Amino acid sequence: MLLDPYKRKINYLRISVTDKCNLRCRYCMPEEGIPLISHGAILTYEEILRIVRVFAAEGISKVRLTGGEPLVRKGIIDFISRLSQIEEIKDLSLTTNGILLKEYAQDLKRAGLKRINVSLDSLIKERFCRITRRDEYGRVWNGMEEALRVGLFPTKINMVAIKGLNDEIESFARLTLHLPLTVRFIEYMPSGNGEEWKESDILTIPQIKSRIENIGKLIPIPPAQWDGPAKRFRIEGAIGEIGLIGAVSSHFCGDCNRLRLTPDGKIRTCLFSDEEIDVREILRKGGSDQNLKERLLVALRAKPERHHINTHLFKKCQRNMSAIGG
Ligand code: SAM
Repeated sequence: MLLDPYKRKINYLRISVTDKCNLRCRYCMPEEGIPLISHGAILTYEEILRIVRVFAAEGISKVRLTGGEPLVRKGIIDFISRLSQIEEIKDLSLTTNGILLKEYAQDLKRAGLKRINVSLDSLIKERFCRITRRDEYGRVWNGMEEALRVGLFPTKINMVAIKGLNDEIESFARLTLHLPLTVRFIEYMPSGNGEEWKESDILTIPQIKSRIENIGKLIPIPPAQWDGPAKRFRIEGAIGEIGLIGAVSSHFCGDCNRLRLTPDGKIRTCLFSDEEIDVREILRKGGSDQNLKERLLVALRAKPERHHINTHLFKKCQRNMSAIGG
């Protein structure tokens, strides 16, 4: 079992397989994109698999693939099917913007992916285009329907609510009344290289919750084994679920169970810390599995107690979210 200095059990690795993305969401990236990590610096799938095997033997049992946009990386399906064969990995999931999901959903399911998160910030086509700077709303929606059809369960929508940009709390929540979806509302965080984050732009989880309560009674759902920081609810009579993630207003660092692996092979101990532990160096200089394990333990010891958003200690991190893995 992997325990950090604050006695948190660390069993979750989020892997960013690429920093490339086929959207340019305003709050995440500038229109021209961000300078990309060079091809040679990106971990190969073989390298990632080796890291996961070593880490899994130590106690990592949950893996999420993210990016950038994970589905734009060539060979992703074959990679997932090899990843899903690692016995110790009991929960394998993926976060996508959904553009390529219609084409890939069936293959993802066959490759062993169980569940999927689709990021979608607006149900209004024109607004979606304005936020993402791309005209892909139809493809994302079709992709999500395909995910439901092939049985990627649960299929979750991640919605980052930003005041004045996409205040569509009620419309998103109502989706759960008649679709077997989980809609997760996520507070806007101070990360990314996009348009400037302002605290006043956050729609807080308490505000979001009280608006959903106007639709119907919110019934809490007890946490399940693989649940992350989302507090789960169901609107009375609804088919789907609501998830509330108060990343800023109620930091959940006390329950944090995760490490991140960047596309260029650095372990990050917190989304909001620039501390990075290099594992690519070990892989490419002929290091042993024992050396990799030692780096994992260094990362574990370096995991901060909490993030410092909303305090004078907070410093925006150097890397863009797309190069860390959101
Ligand atoms: N391309 C994939 C996607 O769209 O889901 C994975 C990468 S994306 C960076 C992962 C998630 O991070 C998305 O749901 C996105 O909305 C979220 N994200 C990016 N910047 C954010 C911010 N400043 N605050 C909250 N969430 C953010």
